[in-house]
Amino acid sequence: MSLVEDARAGRITQEMRIVARQEGVTEDFVRRGIAGGHIVIPVSPYRKVKICGIGEGLRTKVNASIGTSTDIVDIDMEVEKARQAERAGADTLMELSTGGDLVEIRKRVIASTSLSVGSVPLYQAFIEAARKDGAVVHMKEDDLFRITAEQAKLGTNFMAIHTGINWETLKRLRNQGRHGGLVSRGGAFMTAWMIHNEKENPLYSEFDYLLEIMKEHEVTLSMGNGMRAGAVHDATDRAQIQELLINAELADKAHAEGVQVIVEGPGHIPIDEIQANVILQKRVSNRKPFYMLGPLVTDIAPGYDDRVAAIGAALSSGYGADFICYVTPSEHLALPTPEEVFEGVISSRIAAHVGDMIKLKKREADLEMGHARRDLDWERQFQLAMNPERARKIRQERMPADADACTMCGDYCALKIVNRHFSF
Ligand code: SF4
Repeated sequence: MSLVEDARAGRITQEMRIVARQEGVTEDFVRRGIAGGHIVIPVSPYRKVKICGIGEGLRTKVNASIGTSTDIVDIDMEVEKARQAERAGADTLMELSTGGDLVEIRKRVIASTSLSVGSVPLYQAFIEAARKDGAVVHMKEDDLFRITAEQAKLGTNFMAIHTGINWETLKRLRNQGRHGGLVSRGGAFMTAWMIHNEKENPLYSEFDYLLEIMKEHEVTLSMGNGMRAGAVHDATDRAQIQELLINAELADKAHAEGVQVIVEGPGHIPIDEIQANVILQKRVSNRKPFYMLGPLVTDIAPGYDDRVAAIGAALSSGYGADFICYVTPSEHLALPTPEEVFEGVISSRIAAHVGDMIKLKKREADLEMGHARRDLDWERQFQLAMNPERARKIRQERMPADADACTMCGDYCALKIVNRHFSF
């Protein structure tokens, strides 16, 4: 029996109890959220993980995506990235390797983390076809579903599946044109395959079969965003909206069948379109958990895209997005290093917290930090910091003569001066 079926039958499971405790909500709130399709808890019958609830009324969660490329294949480095993502406080991990022994890498990464792990099974199906038969367009439909089931059995908790790319979506994409092209690897593989083979996307035409696999292995389905904009000038365009409409309809079907489901959202969005995107996504998907990829709010800051995405993520979380995919500083430039994975997660966690300050009015930690700063209580400030190690290191490297203050104002520490004369 799936979590959705348990929730519908009124049963509160151990996973629901854990999420309720973590989030400070009632167990029945979580149960109702799952029954209504507004909350998911990605689980797997094959692996125990750190339980993490995603959805309405819960803290915004952060995903870190890692994985090899065709140019850089270093399994130890990917395991280290998984470790750094967890150390930085990521809530989930996606393993998206496209180079090397894909099964071996996935096994090693899964074994190295306690987080829920996500995947994009079509990468492996298309890459194996390219290696065996010379091109991704030779991918066999049966292989796609076989690989999906195999990845589920390795303990994958959620899968991004590109169900919303069909002929209607491609017609809209072709007719409207694009300034930034198509940047989703899954979207590109599937588009090429459909056009070459003159066939419908099997993830769309065989959606019932896909649901059987998801249900059998209790995988949470993340409706993939293959048409996401790769440039702010393409945001909220017809192809993106067309894909969203299809995904939203299929998400309802998945939920009705007892499969937990998330709907993914776009990648590059100017700030003034973020609110509309969140409202639209939530409205048409019947308030399914919304997985926002970024979003990047400008295209001209390569090298700093973790910050660019954090601006967008803070706003989208504030407006109601539930789950944020991090972006690293090397986005658009290179495969990230473990250090950049760490940085990306921290940037995204800051954004998620800023969003939760609006969405959930979660401001207790900020109040405590205000008091700790006023009282010049440095230990408490470090404890409350998003990255205590970094905060402590910066202070210790530049210690002031007066240990109560810091080297910013030294003898003229405003707080110290006023605290002598004033009790707040
Ligand atoms: S020295 Fe200046 S910056 Fe540092 S704690 Fe005092 S008031 Fe704040």
